[in-house]
Amino acid sequence: MHMIDPFGRTISYLRISVTDRCDFRCTYCMAEDMTFLPKKDLLSLEELDRLCTVFIEKGVKKLRLTGGEPLVRKNIMHLVRQLSRHLDSGALDELTLTTNGSQLSRFAAELADCGVKRINVSLDTLDAEKFHQITRWGNLGKVMEGIDAAQKAGLKIKLNAVALRDFNDAEIPGLMRWAHGRGMDLTLIETMPMGEIEADRTDQYLPLSLLRAQLERQFTLRDIPYKTGGPARYVQVAETGGRLGFITPMTHNFCESCNRVRLTCTGTLYMCLGQEDAADLRAPLRASEGNELLEAAIDEAIGRKPKGHDFIIDRRTSRPSVSRHMSVTGG
Ligand code: SAM
Repeated sequence: MHMIDPFGRTISYLRISVTDRCDFRCTYCMAEDMTFLPKKDLLSLEELDRLCTVFIEKGVKKLRLTGGEPLVRKNIMHLVRQLSRHLDSGALDELTLTTNGSQLSRFAAELADCGVKRINVSLDTLDAEKFHQITRWGNLGKVMEGIDAAQKAGLKIKLNAVALRDFNDAEIPGLMRWAHGRGMDLTLIETMPMGEIEADRTDQYLPLSLLRAQLERQFTLRDIPYKTGGPARYVQVAETGGRLGFITPMTHNFCESCNRVRLTCTGTLYMCLGQEDAADLRAPLRASEGNELLEAAIDEAIGRKPKGHDFIIDRRTSRPSVSRHMSVTGG
């Protein structure tokens, strides 16, 4: 039973934002004074498990928990443990998560024990002062402890850094050397116009084509076909021996190979990160104990997955392309 959208793309990857809450307030992601969803609107962990299981039955092979910060959701390890049965059965190829690393020192060993092999950790700077500035509430030391704990537990880490003009562009070579020195890939991401924030995105936005050109003055970058199932394009860096990825939703999107859909913690399914259209799966989930209504709602939603997104950041466009913050859909 495969899910195939109108453009012939097979949907095999589900990302689940298990909470819209976060213990950081990254300036490009959230406003400082965010209003979060009332807890009563959230799907229970059992409901999230049921939804994920239906998606797996419909052909999803990779699940990623995200948020908000997935590790701040109460009892999240219960869900991870439950979902790991699909790894054991072979129905699922990969169970993973994207985290800011703040809670990793507590959870790394248990994640590994549940069959999680690789995780993404978001880290934009190695400078403690700047880290506090960009995350508003974060503590770099805690994140470093988390990375240490995860590596000790045997988890493979990929670092994700959002490239921000005049904030971390000069630091990327150092961040890359550090990541590669510790056996971690690094992926750079262009900032996307999602949700109202206090900062001006035009000032923050840095096209990765520019950053790549700057890096090529110091490093030898060789394009390689390496893929992790996402939109990143990778190069091998001769000087460090490591891999560097580029995610370029603004300058060059890869919607034609999109294999994913995104579920929020209230059961809303977004078929594209960059479009407003969505399908409510909570009502069919709660309407009956059987899964027929839910399966029909999923099929209907996949049937209207859009061709792609059209993010724009420029001085003439002051409103974000998408009104919801990244923390709602899950980055
Ligand atoms: N809290 C987790 C974390 O920090 O990785 C998971 C959720 S966070 C929204 C996922 C990723 O989205 C992070 O790497 C973050 O830097 C990135 N992100 C948030 N807002 C973004 C934006 N407007 N454009 C590009 N990336 C963004």
